[in-house]
Parts: sequence; structure tokens; C-alpha cells
Amino acid sequence: MNKRKYESINKNVIVLYDEMFPLYIVKGEKNFLIDCSITAKAIDIHKTINMILKRGKIDSVLLTHSHYDHTGACFYLQNIYDFNIYGSYKTVKLLKKEKVIDFIDRMNQDFKKLLNDNSKTKCEMLKNLNTIKQGDRIKVDNNNHFEILDTPGHTKCSISFLLQPEKILFPGDSVGIIERNGKIKPLFLSSYKEYEKSLNKLIKIEPHILAFCHNRYIKGKEKVKKFLELSLNSTKELKDKILKMLKKDQDFDKIAKEIFENEFSIPTVMGPYKAIMINLAAMVNSVYREFVEEKI
Ligand SMILES: [Zn+2]
Repeated sequence: MNKRKYESINKNVIVLYDEMFPLYIVKGEKNFLIDCSITAKAIDIHKTINMILKRGKIDSVLLTHSHYDHTGACFYLQNIYDFNIYGSYKTVKLLKKEKVIDFIDRMNQDFKKLLNDNSKTKCEMLKNLNTIKQGDRIKVDNNNHFEILDTPGHTKCSISFLLQPEKILFPGDSVGIIERNGKIKPLFLSSYKEYEKSLNKLIKIEPHILAFCHNRYIKGKEKVKKFLELSLNSTKELKDKILKMLKKDQDFDKIAKEIFENEFSIPTVMGPYKAIMINLAAMVNSVYREFVEEKI
């Protein structure tokens, strides 16, 4: 965590700063936490939540998707707060599988090694899992509620949360990530076409604040619009680059490695190399499936 551990971004939303995994608390009749970072941050997150909420607690966690770096601290924090967890049908289905939790734990243990975390924290089976879907509303208090938006493409299980009436968007990984060199890295792991559609859907909403899960938030309707449009451009550009590379060679892992070295070698999320390569190869695969294979 940074020296300044948290800050209010408006009257009921607080950002818990972290270079790789900022989190957001939305306060109301019930208190919400958006996503759950990695296991290595769990103890720190608990301490910061205590500073913010004093004797208050987290009542619900909203998950944008099932990835290990959004669910890693869930188990540790749920043991303390006994909160409800809300996610898409697909997220909940995945998180009920022991195999999936094992994989999430393995990735998180690797990340702990990278961060020299020798604590015994881990991921185990979660409880109080609830499904939500496009069009559902979650009440925060009499004035505020979350709208649920289906935004697949990063994963099949991805959803976004829009806090109304302030129009604060929590998109998870559905809008890409700003890397340390300033480039926007697209994240269309499950489907390029769905990802592009989801991005267009989010642009139409005209959010006032964009609350990133890996970068700092952006405030101001025009600034958010500009970012989302740039993100859409870099998404299309990467697809075109991958298509060019696929014409020469169809070795997905090799292409993934080349993209890493040429475009995104200084990641914001300094996670296990294995996880980064799995994600890049998945993007190559989705372009192959949707633009090369379908034409054959
Ligand atoms: Zn993700």
C-alpha cells in the first residue's frame, strides 16, 4: 500500500490505494467492497478497512469476474466479515469448483513468493455466493444503487457495476489496463468480438468516474470518454497486429512472447510470468478463432 492508503473519491466511495490492485469501498446502509485483489494483500486490506470503517464491516463483496487477482483475498476477508459475495452466474459456478479454487490458490501462492510474503494466507472454498445478472439492481441506500451490466470478452464471466445516480463505473478488466509505459493493454481473453461490444456498451453509458481495478481512477465525463475511446483504438490495433503475425506463424505461445517483448514488457501488474503469458496467448487464440478459423 502507498503512504496515503485511502481517499474519498466522492461522498460515499473510498479508494484503497495500491499500485497494482486498488479496491473500492462503497458506503451506505450496507458497505460494499468491489473485487478482492490478491492473497498477498489480504492482511493489509483488512488493516486499511479497519481504519476506514472503524467498527463497521464489509457486508457484501461484488466480483467483476473470477480471476485469481480479483478473488485472492476473498477467503481471508470472508473469515473476518462473513460477507455475501455477488458475481455473475458463471463466476459463481466457477468459484464453487474445488479445481478452480486450487488454481486460484496456486497463482496466488506464486504471487506471494514474488512479493516475499511468507505468511500462511491462502484461498479455500468460499461461502454465501449469490448470482446477479444484467438489469439487476443492488440497493446501497435510499439514494444509491448498483446497476449490473453484462460485459463479457475479458472472460465469459465478466460483469461491470454502475453506481447510480453518480454514474461511477467499476468495469473490472473490461476496459483494459494502462501499463507502466503508458500504453493501454487490451484484455480480450475469452472473445475479441464480445470485448469490443462490451467496450462500446460502456462508452454509451457516459460514466462520470471510471474506477479501475489496476490503475488509479479517472474523474470527469470527458476524460473517461477519451480514455474509453483510446482503449477501443488500442484494442483494434492489437487485433490487427495479431492478425498480421498469424499470417506468418500460428504458434500462439511464440506470438504471445513477441507481443510481450515488443508492446507490454513493463506490466502494471507484476504478477507471475506464467499468468501474463497465459493471458496473452488467450488473446491470440481469440483472434484466431474469430477472424482466421471462421473464414476457413
Ligand atoms: Zn481478469
